Amino acid sequence: MQKVVVIALGCPKNTVEAEYLLGIFQSKGLTISNNLDEADIAVIHTCSFIETARAESEKFIRAVLSIKKKRDLRVYVSGCLPQLLKEKMSSLFPDIDGFAGTGTLRHLPDLIFNKNFDKLLLPPGGLNNSNYRMLSSNMPSAYLKIAEGCDHRCSFCVIPALRGKYESRTIESLVDEAKALAGSGIKELILIAQDTTSYGLDVYGAFVLDKLLAKLSKINGLKWVRLLYAYPSSVTDGLIEVFKEHKNICSYMDIPIQHISRNVLSAMKRPLNTAGIIEKIKSKLPDIVLRTSVMTGFPGETKKDVSELVNFLDLGYFQYVGVFEYSNIKEAVSSKFKKHIKPTVAKERRILLENIQYSIFKSKIDGMKNNIVEFLVESCLKEGNRYHIKGRSSFQSPEIDGNMMLADDKPLAVGEFCKAKIRNVNGYNIRVYI
Ligand code: SF4
Repeated sequence: MQKVVVIALGCPKNTVEAEYLLGIFQSKGLTISNNLDEADIAVIHTCSFIETARAESEKFIRAVLSIKKKRDLRVYVSGCLPQLLKEKMSSLFPDIDGFAGTGTLRHLPDLIFNKNFDKLLLPPGGLNNSNYRMLSSNMPSAYLKIAEGCDHRCSFCVIPALRGKYESRTIESLVDEAKALAGSGIKELILIAQDTTSYGLDVYGAFVLDKLLAKLSKINGLKWVRLLYAYPSSVTDGLIEVFKEHKNICSYMDIPIQHISRNVLSAMKRPLNTAGIIEKIKSKLPDIVLRTSVMTGFPGETKKDVSELVNFLDLGYFQYVGVFEYSNIKEAVSSKFKKHIKPTVAKERRILLENIQYSIFKSKIDGMKNNIVEFLVESCLKEGNRYHIKGRSSFQSPEIDGNMMLADDKPLAVGEFCKAKIRNVNGYNIRVYI
């Protein structure tokens, strides 16, 4: 039986697509492996959002092709990179057996099983739904991709060109997938899309993320439902209400704002009233933990723009802030803008903002010292007589917000919920004790 390895690079949306591919491959009789040394087929599911993501994708492709030089291995490259740069990819890596851009991803199995399949790229889109899904980790949480594509046109972003127009899945199909995930032991569901708050407009004629969340929150076995990637201007009053009403919707929202200065937001083609939206959310949901991402070094960003951003972060609305330096992608509108900022300046500004945010985070957690928090156990390792337990609270998303760290003399099982008291911080991790 042939063995296939799928390497998912980039964001959680790619992780979900790779899990659909794994499910489809398994249904077609392939054996799933995570060991490249024994694989007959390798699929590299790529990211192309920013330059560093492209470089990482190309690095993986080179590494896998070096194995193909030594033995029989079929290599396929899928996702954003071939969608955007297929011609370049074909000439750069002639040994690749086939490409599937985001638009042809659902045909990747045909490409693998039927070599005569037409390799042309279809218009951008994505693998938005599948009857098959195989989780790629044994973690107690899973992502639920509620929509594909994006109808916004942020000037720095090529995602709409890669992923196409916004396409919501139906509430029924999402509830079915969520029930199946809960049935397989998943405790935490994490809603993702390029923009989660626009959910439903294309299918139902209105923003209905609140209705979807209300339904998901009633599924047996799901203890937490978490929302990532909320687009600021589509946060409705109904959405705020549903956060108040349902205790198992995590009191946490990831709401990328990118900047706060109206000059920069206007050049980015992002909502200008972002500050007002954040203030409104915090006034209606004072206990909610907010995460955001911001960008430094966008073309034309002045020192005054940076001070505005610093002052806004200083208000303490956000507990977590991902700070990214502007990445000049040739295909993005902003690459043609004047007054590009030197990368060294963008880096200085990133470090400045990161330091400011870390102090804010630390003082928030210091203020919670000895408070009891509940967390979901993700790993438990024995060292000597002690167990080192790692998990996350309802205000920590996987991989980006740090962990709860507990050293105890009793083990805890992965997927178990535990209560402990906050001791102190170590970086973005929070040490707790019982
Ligand atoms: S909202 Fe803006 S940054 Fe996000 S995917 Fe859409 S265009 Fe890109």
